[in-house]
Amino acid sequence: MSIVMKPSATRDEIDDVIHKIKSVGLRADVSSGEYQTVIGIVGDEKKIDFDQIKSMDGVFDAIRIQVPYRLISRSYIPSDVTVKVGDIAIGGENPPVYMAGPCSIESYEQLYRIAREVKGAGAHILRGGAFKPRTSVHSFQGLGVEGLEHLQNVGKDLGMPTVTEIRSEVDVDTVARHTDVLQIGARNMFNQDLIEAAAKTGKPIFFKRGFSSQIDEYLSFAERIVANGNRNILLCERGILPLGGSFKLQTRFTLDLNAIPVLRKETPFPIIADPSHGTGRRDLVLPMSRAAIASGAHGLMIEVHDRPQEALSDGAQAVSPHILKKIIRISDLVYKAIRESESPFSSDIRNGTEHS
Ligand code: PEP
Ligand code: MN
Repeated sequence: MSIVMKPSATRDEIDDVIHKIKSVGLRADVSSGEYQTVIGIVGDEKKIDFDQIKSMDGVFDAIRIQVPYRLISRSYIPSDVTVKVGDIAIGGENPPVYMAGPCSIESYEQLYRIAREVKGAGAHILRGGAFKPRTSVHSFQGLGVEGLEHLQNVGKDLGMPTVTEIRSEVDVDTVARHTDVLQIGARNMFNQDLIEAAAKTGKPIFFKRGFSSQIDEYLSFAERIVANGNRNILLCERGILPLGGSFKLQTRFTLDLNAIPVLRKETPFPIIADPSHGTGRRDLVLPMSRAAIASGAHGLMIEVHDRPQEALSDGAQAVSPHILKKIIRISDLVYKAIRESESPFSSDIRNGTEHS
């Protein structure tokens, strides 16, 4: 349920509604806009009398939102949400934001070398993995805390905000101390404890879609971030399992471009596309970057390495800094072309609500 207060509602009237929600053991998510306050309910709405809420002083309306991800739905928050990472604004009408860097942090020198080039190519946020999710226990697992220190130092040295993956809730405080954005990877999309612990830091959460999850399922888990008091969510489409059967797979995953306009329609939060993991092939990263921006992504996450044959993980999908520069230039052009096309790249079109 979403409770819309009258623009004239007093502080006491708002507090009475919050008190009513809390009195039956539910939590209130309060969204104070310029004109009105909207209050969302976290928990089992059956515990609360809909008509009683509607009749309370200062209440304009109470609306039942049917989707399981009501706090991040467009019905609850109609206009696009902008998430700030340092000075960088992501989402809404802001130009695309680029996050780039190596899959794994291998040493201070490696990260600094790549980060300098990535920054020169126009990327805004530096990525680098320190706690790597790996299928094989025999592969490189990441440098752990040492990697986090390199990321923090390189980020500071170059004046770039950083993002890194957090794999376990026991590391939440350590990772949050070293980085600006916490990434929850595809394999942990269903990890409630990790999501809740990460959300509670209040830091922006870069939340990747699981490669075998439905969009509703994905948004239901993203809802937990807001339910834990954190509205700084960056959603990420990173590819789903490809069809293959007994045939040779041409790509590691299938970047689900459908998901981008669907997510834009369902939720006002920013959507980032990851064509590196979405394809697993460096030659496909540029074309799929263009396509992702054209389909409405607010930014891209790109894996970059200057010596991909030596990379300790995901070398096959790492593009060179030179290609990154090209990706950013072309993606910016695609974004501008769409914005400037004769019917402006209106939120109606992007949100899929335009009628012919
Ligand atoms: C990554 O970003 O390096 C990563 C492992 O991503 P994903 O969780 O999408 O596989
Ligand atoms: Mn990777």
